[in-house]
Amino acid sequence: MNQRSYLDYNATAPLRAEVREAVVAALSLEGNPSSVHEEGRAARAAVEDARAKVAALVGARPEDVIFTSGGTEANAQALSAPAGEDSWHCYLSAIEHPSVLSGGRFHPETTTIIIPVTPDGIVDLGVLAAKLEKHKPGGWRPLVSLMAANNETGAIQPVAEAAAVVHEAGGVLHSDTVQAAGRIPLDIAALGADMMTLSAHKIGGPKGVGALVLAEGVGVEALIRGGGQERRRRAGTENVSGIVGFGVAAELAAAELPHMDRIAKLRDALEEGVRKIAADAVILSASVPRLPNTACIAVPGVKAETLVIGLDLAGVAVSAGSACSSGKVEASHVLAAMGVAPEIAQGAVRVSLGFGSENTDIQRCMGAFGDLVKRLKRDAQEAA
Ligand code: PLP
Repeated sequence: MNQRSYLDYNATAPLRAEVREAVVAALSLEGNPSSVHEEGRAARAAVEDARAKVAALVGARPEDVIFTSGGTEANAQALSAPAGEDSWHCYLSAIEHPSVLSGGRFHPETTTIIIPVTPDGIVDLGVLAAKLEKHKPGGWRPLVSLMAANNETGAIQPVAEAAAVVHEAGGVLHSDTVQAAGRIPLDIAALGADMMTLSAHKIGGPKGVGALVLAEGVGVEALIRGGGQERRRRAGTENVSGIVGFGVAAELAAAELPHMDRIAKLRDALEEGVRKIAADAVILSASVPRLPNTACIAVPGVKAETLVIGLDLAGVAVSAGSACSSGKVEASHVLAAMGVAPEIAQGAVRVSLGFGSENTDIQRCMGAFGDLVKRLKRDAQEAA
């Protein structure tokens, strides 16, 4: 039996064995994909094969996939208003990943508008619609970014509904689908997104490779300029082995989508176990549709960092739902946007499962969680 239980897939998924094998083999491709000789053509073929697999994961056309250095770069590229035009305003949901919230090339104060979320962590479409109503034809155009699912709570966002509102206002919709990909079915046309972001390492691919995927007919400015790679939309010699690994991971993720209920059952068993251990445990976004693999749990009076360290010592890897900056643990911006009370937010831990998760991992996590919570509550009572 594995001695450790890795339950932090939303931070990064382990590299899949098939991916490792393909990456290692691709490292021997000698040519530059832009070269016309045999070696170059072999590298090109490997890149294009991967492009087709990544496109298939989200129902896009291969030519609309732009490989990048990861989700962060794809988000930055998406949030760059078309060159030469300064008549765009950027709208971001309050729970976006920091790589979106940084606003790309938009000024954080003058042209960036934050859309609030409900206490369940779902973007407030009423507020978005009200803001976009002010966009008159010929005036400011809205560029809206709404993630498909949140990385901390797993809450699935109403992207298709938002897209309808955005398009009605003459705007463009980008969706950060980094966490949703491979966990729920995604189709760029059904989502109504003009652009979507993917990252290989969240689905068992290598770190440092991702993609910006465009809807048919949508254009985008290059963020990194230079050579003519990626149809002039992203300069630089392609990360061939990384892209090959991304392709294999995307193919495996697509094939496994119909079996995600196995993961959902494990996650549900974990949450049930936690509720038995601590009746006062709070499961965030539990009442809205969530990714099947994510649980964001807080036990009042128990600090997240204490749980994360205690679980780690017991062989279980999870994340705190809070971010540590300058030595001070602050509530996460996601939970703060949901209006979660600070004493709950400070205790939030994220448990995220994936393809390698088994019942033994859930049992180990629940066992360690139970021991820790019992001890911490007893210590708190004795100190009181
Ligand atoms: N978007 C979301 C929702 C994420 O969770 C992450 C990674 O944590 C990113 C973007 C960034 O992706 P990458 O690590 O590939 O830069």
